[in-house]
Amino acid sequence: MIFKGTDAALAAHTGRLILTPSDPHVCPHPPLLIEALVEEGFIGERLGSEGSAAFRTGPGFLSLVAFTGCAVRICDVPDARRPFCHVRISSAFEHPRLLYGRNTRAPRCNACRHRLGDWRDHVRHWMSHSHAGVTCPSCRETRPPWLWDWKQQGGFGRFFVQIEEVFPGEATPTHALLDVLTRASGMGWRHFYVQD
Ligand SMILES: [Zn+2]
Repeated sequence: MIFKGTDAALAAHTGRLILTPSDPHVCPHPPLLIEALVEEGFIGERLGSEGSAAFRTGPGFLSLVAFTGCAVRICDVPDARRPFCHVRISSAFEHPRLLYGRNTRAPRCNACRHRLGDWRDHVRHWMSHSHAGVTCPSCRETRPPWLWDWKQQGGFGRFFVQIEEVFPGEATPTHALLDVLTRASGMGWRHFYVQD
């Protein structure tokens, strides 16, 4: 995210809720998915110029994303004083890539639950080696990085729907939203959170 002005530059990113296909190798057809999300009222008008992949929230947004707390007030127009709630649709990436942030913790081995303490040292390698395997220092099993348990604090995928700005755990996708995504893409979806 690009901030303008010194005050805004000091503000920490609240976070984003990220939706991605459950299988990190698959990717929906973005134009079809966008069309379905507009039709359901999840997203509204495009922000910025033609070709931008950022959208205002649509009229059905609050019925498709469940916010915790009793008085939900999202800011759906740009306002310098409050986080602006909007949706970004990523491009389709050729290989699974890791989205992570300051909230991301070391992933656990799915077999023995050992934590991969030095995961940050591997990130650059994973970016350029799409079939990288990671050997667990404890049980010695080797599996790709997306088959480690990242909880909901980071994750791999080839395509992402990102809801800005959402504090981790503050909002979750409803079954209805997951159903819309599944019907539009023919694939299952999951979610996680990242704070820059
Ligand atoms: Zn292990």
